[in-house]
Amino acid sequence: MKTINVNLGVKSYDIVIENGFLNKICFQDSGRRYAIITDSNVRQLYAGRLRDSMIMQNLNVELIDFPAGEKSKSTKTAVNIGRVLARKNFDRNSIILAIGGGVVGDLAGYVASFYERGISYVQMPTTLVAQVDSSIGGKTGIDIPEGKNLFGYFHQPKMVIADISTLKTLPGREIRNGLAEVVKYGMIKDRELFEYLEENYHNKTERFYMEIVNKSCMIKASVVEKDELEGEFRKILNYGHTIGHAIETAGKYNMPHGTAVALGMAYEGKISSRLGLLKENELERQNSL
Ligand code: NAD
Repeated sequence: MKTINVNLGVKSYDIVIENGFLNKICFQDSGRRYAIITDSNVRQLYAGRLRDSMIMQNLNVELIDFPAGEKSKSTKTAVNIGRVLARKNFDRNSIILAIGGGVVGDLAGYVASFYERGISYVQMPTTLVAQVDSSIGGKTGIDIPEGKNLFGYFHQPKMVIADISTLKTLPGREIRNGLAEVVKYGMIKDRELFEYLEENYHNKTERFYMEIVNKSCMIKASVVEKDELEGEFRKILNYGHTIGHAIETAGKYNMPHGTAVALGMAYEGKISSRLGLLKENELERQNSL
């Protein structure tokens, strides 16, 4: 098990990375109400079991799900979830457990930031994109037809619990989407991580995932600690995202985020190279990886 602290003063929290412990979690606060928010795929795979194990612990828990996919990251789904919470009388002491990929995390975090003017939430990322990136840093949001993530808040989670054993059920295409974000960290901040990926990407063992999730979380935590609200420095994490988000929006959110970011890095890398900021051979290595 690895634990990384995100040091943000009173808003500090831990990222816990483990292999196979999602069903063994013990919630010590039995006086609270818990809302598990998930999508239709993750409900079948993990969230249903999480709810059952919480019921066995005599906890007061409800499960709310929505159809999987980026198109659910919308005002409509956010309002629907908020209204379910209201009908079931969730109060300000309740906790949201966001279990799923980046869509679940961004959406559930968004609901947590507006419901009763802000309640606590825990991120339980189950995709590689979410484990290395979206579950950390408190950026919540939804898409609107005018653009991606245009409605949102900075609202830090109380904790991030990443179980890398959930990656075993993730389709190869989703693994590649997550790896795009890890390549990004290698490009912006960590040459060793980039070289580790080059050497090991063809042999994706549990150790490989533990290594890349841990390294990525450390990099993201260190950037967020320096610039929580993205004044300037945090923008380094947006490498590949300016063009990537434009591609996603133009494609009406049919292209996966990680794929769009990979294309975005190819184009932004080219701009960088033309400006003389990135060597031609480094651009080639990035694109080849
Ligand atoms: P996603 O949440 O849509 O998940 C991809 C697919 O994998 C979905 O069909 C989902 O149901 C399925 N899935 C999830 N976990 C699974 C598992 N363990 N096994 C099998 N299937 C599983 O997409 P994503 O790539 O995780 O996240 C993309 C979203 O994250 C985008 O909306 C992007 O904008 C956002 N994002 C946010 C931040 C941030 O800082 N907040 C950073 C990066 C990306």
